[in-house]
Amino acid sequence: MNHTPPPGRHFLQIPGPTNVPDRILRAMDYPTIDHRGPAFGELGRACLEGLKSVFQTTTGEVFIYPASGTGAWEAAIVNTLSPGDRVLMFETGHFATLWRKIAHHFGLEVDFVPGDWRHGVDPGLVEAKLKADATRSIKAVFCVHNETSTGVVSRIAEVRAAMDAAAHPALLLVDTISSLASIDYRHDEWGVDVTVAGSQKGLMLPPGLSFNCVSPKARAASALARLPRAFWSWDEMRAPNATGYFPYTPATNLLYGLREALRLLEEEGLPNVFRRHDRHAAATRAAVRAWGLEILCADEREYSSSLTAVMLPDGFNEAKFRQLVLERFNLSLGAGLSKVAGRVFRIGHLGDFNDLTLIATLAGVEMGLGLAGIPHRPGGVTAAMAFLASQNEAAN
Ligand SMILES: *Cc1c(COP(=O)(O)O)cnc(C)c1O
Repeated sequence: MNHTPPPGRHFLQIPGPTNVPDRILRAMDYPTIDHRGPAFGELGRACLEGLKSVFQTTTGEVFIYPASGTGAWEAAIVNTLSPGDRVLMFETGHFATLWRKIAHHFGLEVDFVPGDWRHGVDPGLVEAKLKADATRSIKAVFCVHNETSTGVVSRIAEVRAAMDAAAHPALLLVDTISSLASIDYRHDEWGVDVTVAGSQKGLMLPPGLSFNCVSPKARAASALARLPRAFWSWDEMRAPNATGYFPYTPATNLLYGLREALRLLEEEGLPNVFRRHDRHAAATRAAVRAWGLEILCADEREYSSSLTAVMLPDGFNEAKFRQLVLERFNLSLGAGLSKVAGRVFRIGHLGDFNDLTLIATLAGVEMGLGLAGIPHRPGGVTAAMAFLASQNEAAN
């Protein structure tokens, strides 16, 4: 098989890692400096402070790890919980299932509420489970905000309201790895205790950094938490972070990129970033409906603005379809993961993305459907263009 890609730019339209803007690439193309030298502290502080506005927090502390998102999942657990603690988790999809596995490895007692991979966390169920916990033995509720395997967003503000309605003291831990800087997310306002995030999705950076944003309540819980921790310890980070330094060698060049990503987001304005993502997601759904295909997300209140997961008709395989699209158009689409492997492909529309990136991506999908002989109606791209034209205010 010929693996030489066709000429022209590769379209990386998986829901992370996402395309890295040229400005960020240039910002990283710079000599690595001494991470204990005088110049470094300013970089570290700019990153730690700048991230707070992206988490929409003023009271939270931010920690940066040289790790993929999985590391920050683990950090959230080991800093706040003790062996044998009961926790409540929801099977919204592949990533919720992986986070549960980590909790299990650390000896937590996980109540894993089954799900159909088409819905988010049910706030009513959160309230019922917490109300039934008379002894207050549940120590934390875990939610994946944007479930990247399904394109379903859990309604975190409603989960918070449910916890408050139950007057339950459990911590709220939320994974925003594929929603931060793409979908509106409010760490303080929603009373989240630990927010987990990563560099390679909405932040438009290469993989390799991940984050915890920590509430005062989570900080207090960490003083009593007994799970062993060393590399991930917030306590080890706090003192050096105060002046912009780290307890071990940070990923210096990724931090150059992060500083530039924060500038890009500030220039556009977070509300505009969210509106841009909402608009592109709605245009994508217009295309999918025009094709006559089904969107995996079953509740329109829970549609993701980062990605759209699309079901193929019975008898057609997404892996074959994606391979064909990659070979013909140099376009990478997201795979179906675990329970939906073979049946679902995902269109990533997050990060460094504009109207023409979207239209080209959808054109690749539409031409691919034709080449693969997958039954569909033509006109998805036209429907998306009509939608974008009718909603022009946020175009950029
Ligand atoms: C990508 C992703 C992860 C995994 O992050 P890694 O960087 O691959 O460790 C976890 N959760 C969600 C929601 C994700 O989208």
